Amino acid sequence: MKLLSAVVPCYNEEGNVADFYTEFMKNEAFFREKDVELELWYIDDGSKDATAAEVKKLIQKDSRVHLLSFSRNFGKEAAIYAGLEKAGGDYVVFLDADLQDPPAILPEMYGYIEQGYDSVATRRVTRKGEPVIRSFFARMFYKIMRRISTTEIVDGARDYRLMTRQVVEALLSLKEYNRFTKGMFGWVGFETKWLEYDNIERKKGETKWSFWKLFIYSMEGITSFSTAPLAFASFMGVLFCLAAFALIIFTIVRKALFGDPTSGWPSLVCIISLISGVQLFCLGILGQYLAKTYMEVKNRPIYLIKEEI
Ligand code: UDP
Ligand code: MG
Repeated sequence: MKLLSAVVPCYNEEGNVADFYTEFMKNEAFFREKDVELELWYIDDGSKDATAAEVKKLIQKDSRVHLLSFSRNFGKEAAIYAGLEKAGGDYVVFLDADLQDPPAILPEMYGYIEQGYDSVATRRVTRKGEPVIRSFFARMFYKIMRRISTTEIVDGARDYRLMTRQVVEALLSLKEYNRFTKGMFGWVGFETKWLEYDNIERKKGETKWSFWKLFIYSMEGITSFSTAPLAFASFMGVLFCLAAFALIIFTIVRKALFGDPTSGWPSLVCIISLISGVQLFCLGILGQYLAKTYMEVKNRPIYLIKEEI
C-alpha cells in the first residue's frame, strides 16, 4: 500500500473545512483501486475562528484526518513547510482549503505521476473574478521575474501540486526562513507536468491576501530568487559617474570659452537632489538584502506548534 498525503493550509477557513473534506474524499474509490491510501493534514495557521474545532469534528469521524495548529499566524509559506515536514506519504499534494484547487483533478494528476513524472503542477490560464489592478500587477511581477531570475517561475502557477517523496525531500532540504515556494519548486527542478485550468472563485469566506500583503510577498520573491536589483545599483553608479564626467568636461569647456563657471545653481540643486534620490534608492535595495540576510542569520524556527492531533 502507498500513502498519499494532502496538505491544506487554513487561515480562518471554518466554512470550508468540512466541504473540502467531502470534496477531497470523493477521490477515495479511485485511489483505493490504485492501492493508495489517503491522509489529510489541515495546517491551522493561527486561525481566529472555529477552523480547529471544525477539523477536530472530522478527526472524530475519520482517523485519516490530522490537525497541526500554529501558535499564531505564520503565513501560508510556513504552513506549507510544516505540511512537508509532517506528511508521511509517498506522494504529497498541496491544496487550498477554499476549493480553488479542485480535488476532482487529482486522479488525472496521479496518472502523470504513474507515467513517471516527479511532480504535477497546475496553473490557471485566466484570472476571471479577480480585481483588474491585481491581475495587472501579478502579470507585471511574472514578467519582471522572468527577466531577472534564472529560476523558472511560471505565470499563474498555483501552489496546487502533487509530488513524489523525492521532490518533498528536496524541498525540505531548503531550510531558508524567507520562503517563496513558487520559486523553490522551480529551483529544485525534477520533471514537472503542467496542467492548466480556468480560475475558480473561492467557495466561502474571503481571500486572506490583501494587495499590500501580495506586494510584500512579491518583494520576497524578487530578493529570494534574484540579485538583479543589486546589479542595478552598481549599474546606476557607473551611469552617474559617466554623466558626472561629461558634466565636468562641459563645465571646463564653458569656462574656457565664456568665462563664468558658477552660473546655473538651479541646475546644481536639481542634480544634487536627483543623485541623492538615486543613492537612497540604491541604499534601500542593499538594505532589503541585508534585512533578509539578518532574518536568515537569526535562524529562528519557521513555525511554532500549539497542538498536533
Ligand atoms: N492561508 C494561510 N495563511 C495565511 C493566508 C492564507 O494558511 O496567512 C491559506 C488560506 O486559508 C487558503 C490558502 O492559504 O487555504 C490560500 O489563501 P487565499 O485563498 O486567501 O488566497 P487566494 O486564493 O485569494 O490567492
Ligand atoms: Mg483562494
